[in-house]
Amino acid sequence: MLNFIHNNFLLHSAAAERLYHRYAESQPIIDYHSHLPAKDLAGNRRFGNLSEIWLDGDHYKWRAMRANGVSENFCTGVASPKEKFLAWARTVPHTLRNPLYHWTHLELKRYFGIDDLLNQQTAESVWDRANQRLQSDDLTTHNILCRFCVRVVCTTDDPADSLEHHMLVNSQNLGFRMFPTFRPDKALLVDQPDRLNPWLKQLQTTCNIDVSDLTRLLHALDHRHQQFHEAGGRLSDHGLPHCYANPCSEKQASEIFANARAGRAASPDEHEAFASFMMLYFGHLDFKRGWTKQLHLGPLRSTNTRKLHEIGPDTGFDSIGDFPQAAALCAYLDLLESEGALPRTIVYNNNPADNYVFATAIGNFQDEAVAGKIQFGSGWWFLDQKEGIESQLNVLSNAGLLSRFIGMVTDSRSFMSFPRHEYFRRVLCNLLGNDMERGELPNDEALIGAMVQRICFQNARDYLGLELPQEAPCPDSAVAPLNS
Ligand SMILES: [Zn+2]
Repeated sequence: MLNFIHNNFLLHSAAAERLYHRYAESQPIIDYHSHLPAKDLAGNRRFGNLSEIWLDGDHYKWRAMRANGVSENFCTGVASPKEKFLAWARTVPHTLRNPLYHWTHLELKRYFGIDDLLNQQTAESVWDRANQRLQSDDLTTHNILCRFCVRVVCTTDDPADSLEHHMLVNSQNLGFRMFPTFRPDKALLVDQPDRLNPWLKQLQTTCNIDVSDLTRLLHALDHRHQQFHEAGGRLSDHGLPHCYANPCSEKQASEIFANARAGRAASPDEHEAFASFMMLYFGHLDFKRGWTKQLHLGPLRSTNTRKLHEIGPDTGFDSIGDFPQAAALCAYLDLLESEGALPRTIVYNNNPADNYVFATAIGNFQDEAVAGKIQFGSGWWFLDQKEGIESQLNVLSNAGLLSRFIGMVTDSRSFMSFPRHEYFRRVLCNLLGNDMERGELPNDEALIGAMVQRICFQNARDYLGLELPQEAPCPDSAVAPLNS
């Protein structure tokens, strides 16, 4: 019997197999959006056990465990790493048809060469074998990146964050680069002075610029943006429920900011006006330095108040929102366009009902500056699975140019997530190969294969303008054996 994760996993036709193995599999990775801790890469972290590298911080797994009736103790609580892993292992057989089932076994295979299906019976042995492997040099963070042929990884960073880890990594002759991404979400928090003011203090400490009024804050943010640029950063990112596109004057924004500094929270209307003013400013910063702006739109966050108080944000109590997106997204892009300052932009959609909204909105603002200037980003968060990936690819194909798509990101906090690129590539090649077999695409492997190569690597390389390391082939010892 074939192992579950075999050579042609997810590839359902001969053409799909050829496309994947000949054109996709060996392409390097530019992981241009992740949440990897920069410190772990700078320190070439070695993980103590499977729980540390695989379960810590993974709210997808926590949600599945909670849905399986597992106590919080084994998710985010005080249970030991091994107890948490065993609770996860008992949950895995109940994740059949959830993407976690695929990811779990793909990751066990690619990192540890383990073919067992994870369950209560195999858990002890998987724990022992994986932990043994984690002690070797194969799975330090540097060697993980080499093993998966990652050329660039972009982290997600606050303007108040130090860039020392990025500098350290990029000063070494490693086979990859780590670049920061400028994510200034906290600058919009005039409706929550108790969160805004501690952040302003932090920003002031980091850049040594007084930020007591709006003019100075804008100056400090520009200064940090420049420093991110000098560290090789070429992307910004914003996590928003929806776009803001009703800006007030600088004078009004200054008043709203001064009030928040004094502890008086902005009203919803004032927040909208201030956030719109700031988003316009951030658009100008990205445009003037030739960056790419990312907009992650749509989630409904921290819905469970009791859990928010007990465990904190970003622990798996967020879901898909149904905010109106179309008018605000187009109005925001239009504001920048009309000021001659629309940067390259990637919009990521959280609600599958809005896929066509996003895919058609981007088409309104394309121009000759760069092919595919406005991108519909890869399937994100709850849509980061086979059906969601296929849907994004199909909708983009129907409403835009799939051929200009810059491809997949892990968007992950975990060093165990790099096989998501493989997963995406298999789904992509399967779609295209099946179309070839049905005669809906020409049976021209060179034509379709070239598009596969563009989507897997070349488009991201050409579009983002990130500095790639000198061609540094991964050491043989670090490359995973290709098991069938
Ligand atoms: Zn993200």
